[in-house]
Amino acid sequence: ANPIRIGVVGYGNLGRGVEAAVALNPDMVITGIYTRRDPAQLQPANAATPVYRMDDLDAHQGQVDVLILCGGSKDDLPAQTPALAARFNVIDSFDTHARIPEHFAAVDAAAQGGKTTALISAGWDPGMFSINRVMSEALLPDGTTYTFWGKGLSQGHSDAIRRVPGVAQGVQYTIPVQAAVDAVRSGTCPQLTTREKHERHCYVVLAEGADADAVRQTIVTMPHYFDEYDTTVNFISAEEFARSHSAMPHGGFVIRSGSTSAGTRHVVEYRLQLDSNPQFTSSVLVAYARAVHRMAALGLHGAKTVFDVAPGWISPKTAAQLRQEAL
Ligand code: NAP
Repeated sequence: ANPIRIGVVGYGNLGRGVEAAVALNPDMVITGIYTRRDPAQLQPANAATPVYRMDDLDAHQGQVDVLILCGGSKDDLPAQTPALAARFNVIDSFDTHARIPEHFAAVDAAAQGGKTTALISAGWDPGMFSINRVMSEALLPDGTTYTFWGKGLSQGHSDAIRRVPGVAQGVQYTIPVQAAVDAVRSGTCPQLTTREKHERHCYVVLAEGADADAVRQTIVTMPHYFDEYDTTVNFISAEEFARSHSAMPHGGFVIRSGSTSAGTRHVVEYRLQLDSNPQFTSSVLVAYARAVHRMAALGLHGAKTVFDVAPGWISPKTAAQLRQEAL
């Protein structure tokens, strides 16, 4: 069969991750990277991959099977996904949980109109964590679901500390509290407050002449971001920052604990430990792009989420192969 032709829209962390992931999937090929910047400024990992302007997509209809949208959730995807879903099969990783319903509605209108398949909010959360929440809740209706994040670098919280006066560089890690994880794994269904579930650890390089105590105080009392958590602020040198804090690790656990009859308890757990949040997210996008291609061929048009995708559709193997090897 012909390889699935993938177009990459936006070339940041996820865009680079898609390149790496497609290289591991022989049934797919990247036919182009599309950017809002000057294509000559971009250097794809594979120098043979053409880089185009976004406008060039107009002429490429019919030459791309699925566009993987790698823009940011805050400003890029709310506009890009509906606009492109009107003409192409697409997939995005939109992760502003509270705005998923309105994003879905806008993308659905575009995809229904264009008779395309548009999968939104794939990745790990939303994405793989969402699937595991839904599965374990359906299997154990009498129970409690817990999501722990980390250890992981939180982009939003890192941005927030970088805006504090006196901070030259800063990064924030979200860390699950081990005692809380242990209590949940024991199957006792504890009630946990925000503070009991996660800690926030900040690493800050101070600007010249900045007052460390004032910076620490501004960070730990910041409403919404830090005030509800136990937050520690560590001051480090620019050299240590560059050496130890330039990777983007993340991960976490989804745990469902419930009972099926009096005294009969079950604990279901899904765990991710990721050296690179964007590279794993891109790997999920690439696997689900395969499903988008299959769903489009089946005529399943409109906006979709991971809940609408049969597990076998994300695999490169045939249904017969999966029955024999994996069932
Ligand atoms: P990013 O690196 O900031 O890239 C976002 C966009 O910014 C790119 O598509 C690119 O578009 C532009 N860009 C990148 N580097 C640039 C530069 N040096 N100068 C100017 N523009 C640049 O963001 P990301 O890390 O790939 O993450 C994208 C989104 O993924 C996040 O907003 C997040 O919401 C989502 N995400 C979801 C999950 C999940 O589990 N669902 C997990 C992780 C991330 P152009 O090429 O068009 O300029």
